[in-house]
Amino acid sequence: MKKRAFLIIILLLAGFKGVLLLKQHAGSLIHSGVSGAPSVNQGTRADQAEYRTEAGAGAGSSGVQQAGNQPTAGESGEAAGKQALTLSEKQLYKGDLILVNQEHKLHKDGVMPDIVRLSKHPELLNGYGLLDNSIELSASVTEQFSRMVEAARKDGVDHFLISSGYRDFDKQDELYNQMGSDSALPAGYSEHNSGKSLDIGSTEQQMSKAPEGKWLKKNAWKYGFILRYPEDKTAITGIKYEPWHFRYVGLPHSAVMQEKNFTLEEYLDYIKEQQQIKVNVEGTDYEILYIPAAQKKVQIPNNRGYTVSGDNSNGYIVTLTM
Ligand SMILES: [Zn+2]
Repeated sequence: MKKRAFLIIILLLAGFKGVLLLKQHAGSLIHSGVSGAPSVNQGTRADQAEYRTEAGAGAGSSGVQQAGNQPTAGESGEAAGKQALTLSEKQLYKGDLILVNQEHKLHKDGVMPDIVRLSKHPELLNGYGLLDNSIELSASVTEQFSRMVEAARKDGVDHFLISSGYRDFDKQDELYNQMGSDSALPAGYSEHNSGKSLDIGSTEQQMSKAPEGKWLKKNAWKYGFILRYPEDKTAITGIKYEPWHFRYVGLPHSAVMQEKNFTLEEYLDYIKEQQQIKVNVEGTDYEILYIPAAQKKVQIPNNRGYTVSGDNSNGYIVTLTM
């Protein structure tokens, strides 16, 4: 009897120690999951090995041990291959997907940092004309536009013209005062103020009829551009049909928008609702995450390319290349 009681006490103590260890390690795992630096994750892996050994020796029934092991192993396994991405408030107002419309004013941080006067950059002027020499645009957006124009030329469509690009707030105000609210937007509410949008014309005929307009409508998404104000979406965009106005949003977003026939407004609503979508565009897998502004941090896999864009309002879109 005495021996049995002694054994029970030993077992109880061993079990108690196991529970204590479980609690300690669960705490450290959760902590490292939050801080998330790769070095901390490596530490977690070492902790976990130690935990397994000790818990194996100290825990009571196998049922308890399994219950303790499963979530921690899964959690640390994920944390080990991930890094914490901290999102700043500034990022909320810039990036490929910022929404600029009558309700969402462009933030100063949302203006592309690489605005250039195109007539002074012959290396960017490949196979298209400029309505006038003062036209400015983001150099990186222009590079994508040039790639697009080159592809169109291979299809025999080669009368492109840029009729408008970047406008600073002063220029937008001037235009608004000249044209009125039916044809122009006040400063800060036009996508042209960001440097990501341009008006594309044909030197031959109106864009609604020109081969250039038709080609772009079908193919612009492949180069990251979208027809921003389609004919059947005026109720959503609040802007009349503009077959000439294209906006750069980048891949894979332009592909999803084309496939689902979404405007930028609809696409952002969709991502926000889904929170996470996976897409394959021309052989590349992407994962698109919506992160509410208040969250400010997200765990993303290590060794994956990613981009961050704000929605210019209350969330971030993180795009991972898988
Ligand atoms: Zn425009």
